[in-house]
Amino acid sequence: MDVESIPELPTGAVEHLRSEGVDSLYPPQAEAVEAGVTKGENLVASVPTASGKTLIAQLAMISAIDRGGTALYIVPLRALASEKAAEFEALESLGIDVGVSTGNYEASGEWLSSKDLVVATSEKVDSLVRNGASWVENLGCVVSDEVHLIDDPERGPTLEVTLAKLRQLNPGAQLVALSATIDNADEIAAWLDAELVDTDWRPIELRMGVHFGDAAHFDDGEDEATREELPVGASESATGAIVRDTLEDDGSTLVFVNSRRNAEAAAGRLGSVVEPNLDPEERAKLGSLAEEIRSVSDTETSDDLADAVAQGAAFHHAGLASEHRTLIEDAFRDRLVKVVSATPTLAAGVNTPSRRVVVRDWRRFDGSSGGMKPLPVLEVHQMMGRAGRPGMDPYGEALLLAKGHDELDELFERYVEADPEPVQSKLAAEPALRTHVLATVASGFARSREELLAFLDETLYASQTEEAGRIERVVEDVLVFLQRNGFLERDGDTLTATNLGHTVSRLYLDPMSAATIVDGIEDALVVEENAVTGSSGAEAAMGGDTETPNPDDAKLNEESAGGGFTPANELVDDERDATPLADDRGAEEDDGGDDKTGDGPEYDESVSLTPLALYHLVSRTPDMYELYLKSGDREKYSELYYEHETELLGAAPSEYEDDRFEHWLSALKTAKLLEDWAEELDEDRITNRYGVGPGDIRSKVDTAEWLLGATEEIVSELDAPVVDDVREARMRVQHGVKDELLDLVGVRSVGRKRARRLYRAGIEDREALRTADKSVILGALRGREATAETILENAGREDASMESIDADETAENEATLAATGGAADGSGADGARDDGDDSDQSNLGDFS
Ligand code: ADP
Repeated sequence: MDVESIPELPTGAVEHLRSEGVDSLYPPQAEAVEAGVTKGENLVASVPTASGKTLIAQLAMISAIDRGGTALYIVPLRALASEKAAEFEALESLGIDVGVSTGNYEASGEWLSSKDLVVATSEKVDSLVRNGASWVENLGCVVSDEVHLIDDPERGPTLEVTLAKLRQLNPGAQLVALSATIDNADEIAAWLDAELVDTDWRPIELRMGVHFGDAAHFDDGEDEATREELPVGASESATGAIVRDTLEDDGSTLVFVNSRRNAEAAAGRLGSVVEPNLDPEERAKLGSLAEEIRSVSDTETSDDLADAVAQGAAFHHAGLASEHRTLIEDAFRDRLVKVVSATPTLAAGVNTPSRRVVVRDWRRFDGSSGGMKPLPVLEVHQMMGRAGRPGMDPYGEALLLAKGHDELDELFERYVEADPEPVQSKLAAEPALRTHVLATVASGFARSREELLAFLDETLYASQTEEAGRIERVVEDVLVFLQRNGFLERDGDTLTATNLGHTVSRLYLDPMSAATIVDGIEDALVVEENAVTGSSGAEAAMGGDTETPNPDDAKLNEESAGGGFTPANELVDDERDATPLADDRGAEEDDGGDDKTGDGPEYDESVSLTPLALYHLVSRTPDMYELYLKSGDREKYSELYYEHETELLGAAPSEYEDDRFEHWLSALKTAKLLEDWAEELDEDRITNRYGVGPGDIRSKVDTAEWLLGATEEIVSELDAPVVDDVREARMRVQHGVKDELLDLVGVRSVGRKRARRLYRAGIEDREALRTADKSVILGALRGREATAETILENAGREDASMESIDADETAENEATLAATGGAADGSGADGARDDGDDSDQSNLGDFS
């Protein structure tokens, strides 16, 4: 179909498409147009990776915007939001204003109401709905990218509920759901009342196969697999041989592995395969790219990546800083980097086609079973689908690797010839429902149990389940939990969120996290006997609940059949032999008691909470991904725990409760990382100490900042006298500084390192920046005039000019001494790294 013949497109759209190199539509796109995608029809497109789904969405969005609506494009990953928004910015030539909604969950994002097209993650959209953003009620078109992720036990339910809410809010809006090829796309289409485009067509032929011995075996649709020689040299790995063979053909290879560590190790090894094949020009370009990578962040990961890139190889995983990721993706697309070893994040929507794909690891460690588990077919097919660059390669080739004859047969059967698994709703899992039930009530989507069940009846889960009554049962358990923890009130059939419940929903907290926080705080502060008993409630119920939601449906089924979790207070009451429900907040409420505000429990004003205790508290919540305990860690962190036993919040499990104790210690390890950061320990030192990447520190810090901000609000809601402690802990982790630097880091452009230098030179606060001798300030900032001027302006100094000011040498020496003195842990050695260039300020160490 020629682009001219697409109906209902706004003026200029055809020219725009042509300018983007699109003259005629790919067959699935043409099918979508015939199904009415530009006329506002709902559509599900189940189409292979890289076969032009995005254009289907664009056609829907530009025609919907032309009809006067706003379009919302829902992406599965935060990292993809900016990438998609950048792609859509080309639509600005059609007068379409594109916005991307990232940032904090609690913001309502009203500024987005002026945009024509908004890109956001499903979590973000969910939170916008919770926060009452008005524009989400005026949508003309909603696109859900990678809708098959509804199957994901952790994130799927949010997407599912969000789509259901958006439909309720915008009954007339067009819905377009894009999916990888799945088996039951028809079920998704039926659920969404949508037309279905379901096809295997792809713009470039994909040959899937398995490498074994000295040959690649391809499934070309014949009875027998096609065997092609691809010998492995004596000193080579199979992957190395494939990469070399591809290079001889001037092609690039994408290698998927199952862990970050493996990705890094493989890049190092593959670099030595690539390096001898580089020409001088490539070497020079790669050399400068390596330098650029090194300057992004001062860490071992950054160095390792730069070393690999200098040899024409790279690794890619979620532990990388986003600047690193972008540099690698671009260099791979430009064919400068010849091989990338990646964890599956790269398969999830980043457009990085490559001549060949190797799926090296088809098993991955699975925390819930404690062993290696085969990857889903859908995921392997998505990785394989990255093979073949349209217009550049005759076809793409994707290979799994077998070590023996049996494995060759197994891999053919399991992946090459197999159909992807059907997508199944994971909504009926209790951790998912406790969040969504509270939010659904708090944001007014349901005011009674009846309405709640009616709302849930509009979900994919309801359309798929054959098990009558299951959702009612789980919902009942969840309502009891929410009521007992004071988030909901129930009067007959009527459901109302309490103030605390509203706060929790608005803050985007898992109610279990909120219950943990409330309990930890009350446990430390409440003097009343009764309330203390009630406090460690969620704690006790946390046992199985804080873990990542269990993907095993059967298990969840079992749990809910058995009445689900044990409501918090009941457990504690059992243990402590108190009157059951005597302190039940819900019951109190029935008596007209106002337990959460005003005349709540009596607090001990003398208690103060340490940052470590607060970091531990938030690290224990299911909203924080804790660090794993490695060998030796159990002893190490047990010791640390006993050292800090009295300081930590909430009821600790005993050493003999294995899982719970392990969880407690993992949280302590995570808390210790956060504390190290807030004690100004060097970033590189932290990555080594905890075996994490710089991106991990950042994500832990971001999560802690968010959870402590939420704790601050909860503490105010409870009227507990520790708001200042919580705020200080939050600000310290946010900026990565000790408390004496908090005033300084509040000035823009002053990161943790500059603040420390200024402080050591005697510039101890914002006021000093306004009044102190400029030469001292300049000295502390290593004589960088432009930097000093910016900082002084930001601090509000009237005359910020550094003209004819000489840097004070003593100040410079004092500041440098500070850096090499290792402000953090007294071991000067790694602190010396802080004394790098001022470009440090843009690296992770300063979170600018
Ligand atoms: P998907 O979203 O299905 O993974 P994309 O939408 O990213 O795939 O498309 C893959 C590539 O194909 C993109 O580079 C896109 O510009 C290109 N493309 C899509 N449709 C057409 C078309 N009709 N003609 C030419 N190129 C196209």
